[in-house]
Amino acid sequence: MDLGSWRIVLSLFGVISLLFSTCYCDKAPNYSFMKEATFAPQVSYYDYIIIGGGTAGCALAATLSEGAHVLLLERGGAPYGKKVVEEMSGFGANLSEDDVHNNNSTAQQFVSEDGVVSSRARVLGGGSAVNAGFYSRAGTDYVAKVGWSGSLVNESYAWIEKKVAFKPPMLQFQSAFRDGLVEAGVKPYNGFTYDHIVGTKIGGSIFDHNGKRHTAADLLEYANPNTTVVYLFATVHKIMFRTKGQYSQKPRAHGVIFRDSKGIKHKAYVKAGEMNEIILSAGALGSPQLLMLSGIGPKAHLKELGLELLVDQPMVGQGMTDNPMNAVMIPSPNPVEVSLIQAVGITEFGSYIEAASGTNFANSIIHLMPTSYKTSQPTSNQEYINKVASEKLYAGLILEKIIGPISSGHLLLKTKNPSDNPSVTFNYFKEKEDLTRCVKGMETIIKVIKSKSFSKFRYSELTIESLLTTMVNLPLNRCPRPANDTGLFTTLEQFCKQTVMTIWHYHGGCQVGRVVDKNYKVYNVSGLRVVDGSTFYASPGTNPQATVMMLGRYMGRRILQSRTAALKKKSFKD
Ligand SMILES: Cc1cc2nc3c(=O)[nH]c(=O)nc-3n(C[C@H](O)[C@H](O)[C@H](O)COP(=O)(O)OP(=O)(O)OC[C@H]3O[C@@H](n4cnc5c(N)ncnc54)[C@H](O)[C@@H]3O)c2cc1C
Repeated sequence: MDLGSWRIVLSLFGVISLLFSTCYCDKAPNYSFMKEATFAPQVSYYDYIIIGGGTAGCALAATLSEGAHVLLLERGGAPYGKKVVEEMSGFGANLSEDDVHNNNSTAQQFVSEDGVVSSRARVLGGGSAVNAGFYSRAGTDYVAKVGWSGSLVNESYAWIEKKVAFKPPMLQFQSAFRDGLVEAGVKPYNGFTYDHIVGTKIGGSIFDHNGKRHTAADLLEYANPNTTVVYLFATVHKIMFRTKGQYSQKPRAHGVIFRDSKGIKHKAYVKAGEMNEIILSAGALGSPQLLMLSGIGPKAHLKELGLELLVDQPMVGQGMTDNPMNAVMIPSPNPVEVSLIQAVGITEFGSYIEAASGTNFANSIIHLMPTSYKTSQPTSNQEYINKVASEKLYAGLILEKIIGPISSGHLLLKTKNPSDNPSVTFNYFKEKEDLTRCVKGMETIIKVIKSKSFSKFRYSELTIESLLTTMVNLPLNRCPRPANDTGLFTTLEQFCKQTVMTIWHYHGGCQVGRVVDKNYKVYNVSGLRVVDGSTFYASPGTNPQATVMMLGRYMGRRILQSRTAALKKKSFKD
């Protein structure tokens, strides 16, 4: 054997021994491999560089570290030791407007061009560190349609569930809501399950039995500490490409430029070798944004911003989709527990009905609005609004999300700064079918509120009409109001449009078949993939985080399998 063959045999041995060495003993939050980016060298080299330590990125990094050297770059800090992240009651405060201009906050607010107020994560663990915690798998039809391998999907879900999914406690409010759903005809009752099945069920939660949140960052407990590096407060500004010689036709991604919290520039490169790659997991806003900032996107738009074009790719930023949320807040004569989502009604017609209680969820909606907006509401409702915002009100919130949705929009850059939000348009309810689903969902919610099972948690003298009218008058969005707004509505279609909010399940922008191929490789360049919620056409299951984490694990396994196969093939050939 010559020297080259020996090198290949040795690296193959390295991969295999990494794969079989299972003594990964770092426990959250004491990860020896996690540091602030100010400690990063000016230049460093890895097998894989993952941009975005979010819901998909953490699962992916932990998996790839089983067989390769991995760098994970996250623009936010660690989720550990923060009350607003770890405790369920912190949900509303975490998303509150006070944090908008604070680069250290775990959530970054944005307002879509439609006028819907939303949030995106800026923290290790990504959306799983700021979300409502509900954990539910995608349906088998979704998995089949996407073309994933069913067995690897199931193995990947199980890997996630071992660390971060729990059965919720189901106290009084959630139990009454569950029984109300069944009474309203959302049948059968399927008990506790992670599976997506028509009927009423109790799903999982990433909050454990003590009410403590477990984010995707906990999946890094699986990571090999010897082959993993995580830098926090590391904002990636650009992906670098080789464009000369053999790469003149198809540029190859070979490094990234990131800045630490002091604004110091660092460069990280992938080591030589065909299998080494950069993987974008920066989420539905971050991934298309970074592709564009790196020169991959619609030519005219990049030119407008003075960005150098690498590949004219008009589909980057297209297919931006957000599932509308419509809700009814129900003041309760009896105390309610603090709960986020636990029970869910999965209807035949594609509307998912969920509930939360305590004021924390309500505050996440109301507090998102500027104070001036609150005072401009009709005075008849001002007292109620003040009460809701004052956190002294016992209340539940029953909400619905529609499947898909079909309506979609696009994303464009506003500036060249990756820390700025891009502009995003979702075109809620543009397609009639979405609106029809919303109306049917609202009809079901009304049945639940009227149900005997739920009666303990509503004032009988508050009519459905008054509950819905109050919602129409709450400052739930910044969408343009009808010209002569009376604060009333006549149809549920109108109600759906006027009270549209987000359930924060936005996706798209780098969809499979448009921006990436079925192996999540970006078209027309090499060495670059996108693995996160930006690749989806529709939100999976009732709530997406289980499937986003699953995708990180799934693709990590697939990438390592190809790596091992390629090394074997090369050693055989040599
Ligand atoms: C408020 C809220 C409530 C939700 N509730 C639920 C729920 O109850 N159940 C559920 O299943 N789903 C829920 N979701 C949705 C779910 O959390 C998201 O769909 C999912 O987390 C998206 O995962 P992702 O990996 O695509 O992106 P993310 O998890 O957002 O990860 C992207 C990461 O990339 C980082 N990043 C971005 N740009 C850069 C850059 N330039 N450099 C470095 N890092 C960068 C970000 O900081 C972030 O950590 C909710 C979401 C929110 C926001």
